[in-house]
Amino acid sequence: MSRDDLQLELPLKLPSPPRPRPEGTVRRRCSGCGRTMEVPRWYGEEMRLFFCSPECRKAWMGAEREPPRVALESRTEYRGGDWEVQAERARRRDRYTCRICGATEEELGRKLDVHHILPFSWFRDPRQANKLGNLISVCPSCHRKLEAETKTRVPLFSPS
Ligand SMILES: [Zn+2]
Ligand SMILES: [Zn+2]
Repeated sequence: MSRDDLQLELPLKLPSPPRPRPEGTVRRRCSGCGRTMEVPRWYGEEMRLFFCSPECRKAWMGAEREPPRVALESRTEYRGGDWEVQAERARRRDRYTCRICGATEEELGRKLDVHHILPFSWFRDPRQANKLGNLISVCPSCHRKLEAETKTRVPLFSPS
């Protein structure tokens, strides 16, 4: 076999390389439709819910209704063992000031609420949900707006 033949044959025998997976991502299935997608590694490891479209997210949130609570227990919603400590740390970090409108606890005459940027129930581990980076201090009125916006602001990933 001549050298020229070899060069002609070689590319034909090589299998096409696997499509490289972007670094720092993992595959997860959409919690709504089940299609697979690449999500950032930290997100894939810490979260238990993933969505590819507003429709999938909406369908899930509509289905995930909170169970009815007994009136006496309404204030004891579980937020993880370190919740009180982490909420206090978040309020201190934010200088006891609403991160959205700037209202202070002194002006409000009460403690600020502490909001989970990514919903608490989406995390596998409550401690990850309660990391300072996922918490912001807000006044009750900004908190209501944020809770409503959460439904439309959580990240979506394209199926791949
Ligand atoms: Zn989907
Ligand atoms: Zn506010």
